[in-house]
Order: sequence, then structure tokens, then C-alpha cells
Amino acid sequence: MPMHIETLSLITAIQSLALAAMLWAGTQGGSGPARTSLKLRAGALAVEAGGWSMLAAQAWLHPAQLLLGGNALNLLAHGMAAVALCMLVGAPLRWRSALAIGVIGWLGVGWFGVVQPDYRLRVLWGSAAILAFIGLRVQALLHARPRRITRARAVLLVMYTLSSLLLAWRNGQLWFDLSPPADIVQPDTVNYLYVLFSGMQPLFLSIGFLLLYSETLQREMHTLARVDSLTGVKNRLALTETATQLLAQAGRAGRPLGVLMLDADHFKSVNDRFGHGGGDKVLLSLVASIRATLRAGNVIGRVGGEEFVVLAPDTGLEQALVLAERIRATVESTPLLMDGHLLQLTVSIGATAAEPGERDVPGLLQRADAALYAAKRAGRNRVMAADRSLAERALSA
Ligand code: GH3
Ligand code: MG
Ligand code: MG
Repeated sequence: MPMHIETLSLITAIQSLALAAMLWAGTQGGSGPARTSLKLRAGALAVEAGGWSMLAAQAWLHPAQLLLGGNALNLLAHGMAAVALCMLVGAPLRWRSALAIGVIGWLGVGWFGVVQPDYRLRVLWGSAAILAFIGLRVQALLHARPRRITRARAVLLVMYTLSSLLLAWRNGQLWFDLSPPADIVQPDTVNYLYVLFSGMQPLFLSIGFLLLYSETLQREMHTLARVDSLTGVKNRLALTETATQLLAQAGRAGRPLGVLMLDADHFKSVNDRFGHGGGDKVLLSLVASIRATLRAGNVIGRVGGEEFVVLAPDTGLEQALVLAERIRATVESTPLLMDGHLLQLTVSIGATAAEPGERDVPGLLQRADAALYAAKRAGRNRVMAADRSLAERALSA
């Protein structure tokens, strides 16, 4: 089939430039590492387009210009794409490694291209540099969190494997073919196929990158939708999900699960005295006090304005009451300095525990809430147990 290196290169250059513009357009109207990585990826495609344009315009260029300029742009594009991927998955950026690979790659290609011309060694050197860039990307994909191969990561890993095979095939052809081409611009089947297949890569790798970008944004959304923006603890949705998981685990292990429902006492008057902003600060201090009393494995979530839930795995009712009392006493003994005034905040707490086999999360929370209501009615700043046998038991007055 008749093919033309310059035409193939021109098509790839136009395609890369169009992809760069589309990716860049997708980054508008937002910020954050994921968007920055997409911008960098778009930049890499634009640089790559420059490299392909030089190959397309080789008739007008001096061979040394094409060799040094084209390879500089190609290696720069690879380096930018590798750093963009590291940024997207939250891995260390490794831009120093990328710079070192690019510079060493370019010097070697220049040496075997201009100073001591040897086409096969030049291609081998350049391929080794590109493989090193692929290695950086694979390392980022394998070591990023979460530590599992997601769909988008799998797509990219397949792409990188195919790219590596293409490089290996090209080098194999040059070393074992009896009459290998003397340059990339020479009409030859190896060159045609290499330019054809590597020309498809900008499109496929961009799609892979976009899949990964979308996966990253979805994960960010998932996290954002589960965090309370004021205090940083779990919100109601996340707390309910965690409670469901912990309840199932407790059921399987035949262990209890302690549940506390807390509400700040007379919080309206805090807002009245210090304003809503002051009230927010008090809420942050309250969360800090509660957290300071919790053990590893205990979970706290904000389920209302100044209402919080604590889940304590492996904790029966007796121990849940002890934990609740510890929280109550800590909050009471931690006065807050607000606008030069000392504020003595207190909390009321309802406590309950899920028995092994209990599966009803709303029912469990309702029970803790009923105990909290009882604590409020009994005068506030106290702990009440939900269960009938202990309902009258208040650990503090
Ligand atoms: P009680 O002892 O019966 O709990 O009295 P209370 O004043 O705390 O009453 P309640 O729990 O019903 O009122 C909660 C108040 O918390 C009402 C609301 O103005 C305030 N609040 C809710 N969310 C926020 C918030 O995000 N920031 C601030 N500053 N205040 C909030
Ligand atoms: Mg309250
Ligand atoms: Mg309340």
C-alpha cells in the first residue's frame, strides 16, 4: 500500500493539535491538580504536534535541524505527559527524573545523529528514553492511591504495553533486517508502519488520559459529597454508610457496636452572643474536644447543625456510656476563649449499642436520638442510655 511519511506526520500533527485544543477547552472554568494535569497533557500534545510538523516539513529543513529539533520536541512531550500523569494520580511528580531522561535521551540521539552517526544506535537510544518515560508513568499508575488497577488505569497500561512493543519491534527490524533504512524519513516499510502506529498514539493515549481524569474527578466528588465542609468530619451520608458497614462487620464477628448521639446545649444562645461565625468556631472546637477523647477505630460524623454521632466498634452499652461520659466531661472542662470571654459549652449525649445480629441503622440512630432527647429533658449536660433497663441511669448530673 503506498504511504507517505510526510503525509502521515502531517495528519498526526493536525490530530495532536486538535486534541490539545479540545483538552485545553475542557480545563476551563475550574482549578485543582486534576485540571492542571489536563492542561499539562494538552501542552504535551501541542509540543508533540510541533515534533510531527517538523517531520512533515522535513523537505525544508536541514537534517541536523530535523534530528535535534524533532527529537527535542518529542522527548519534551513525553516528559510533560509523564509529569501530567503523576499529577493526575497524586503520585510524586518526578519532574527531575523526567528532565534527566529527556536531556540524556536528547544528547544521545544528537551524538549518534550528528557527531558519530549511527542510525540503529540513535533509534535504540531514543527508544530507551521513551521506555524510561513509559516506566515513570507505569510506576505512577501502580503506586497511586487507591492501590488497585482501576478500569482507566488498565486501559492506559495496555496502551503503554503496545507502545513498548512497537518500539521493540522497530528496533528488532533495524538490527535484524538485512537492509534497514538509514533514516526515519527514508521510504521503507519499517518507517511507514512505525510512523503509522505511533501516529495513532496521541488519540488513544488522550482518550486513556481522559478516562483517568474522569475517574479521578468522580473519586473527588465521591469524597466531597461525604465530608462536612465546616468541620471536616463525615457528613450524614458518609456516617450512615459507615454505620451500615460497621453494623454488618459487628454482626459477622458477633461483637457489639456502640452508638452515641451528641447535641450541644443551648447553642442558639452561643450564636446569639458571638454571631454565626463565632458559633462556627465553637463547633470546630467541639469537634476537636470530641476527637481528643476517641480511640483509633471510633468514627465521628456531623448529622445536624450541632449534632454529632460517634460510632464505637467492639463497644457494648456499658463501655459506650463510659466513652460518652468521657466526652461530656472533656467538653465541660474545656472552656473556650471567645472575644475575650470564657465560654463554657456542654453537651447532652444519648448512648446505645447494637446487639450482634441487629441490622437496622435508622432504628439504631433513632434509639440514640431518643436517649439524647431524654438527656435534654432531664436537664442537659448529661449522658442517658437508650435501653429500658438503663434508661434511668444518668452518669452525671
Ligand atoms: P438545646 O440545648 O435544646 O439543644 O438548645 P439549642 O439552642 O442547642 O437548640 P437546638 O439544638 O434546637 O438548636 C441548634 C442551633 O444550632 C440552631 C442553629 O441556629 C444553630 N446551628 C445549626 N447549624 C449551625 C452551624 O452550622 N453554625 C452555627 N454557628 N450554628 C448552627
Ligand atoms: Mg442543641
Ligand atoms: Mg440540635
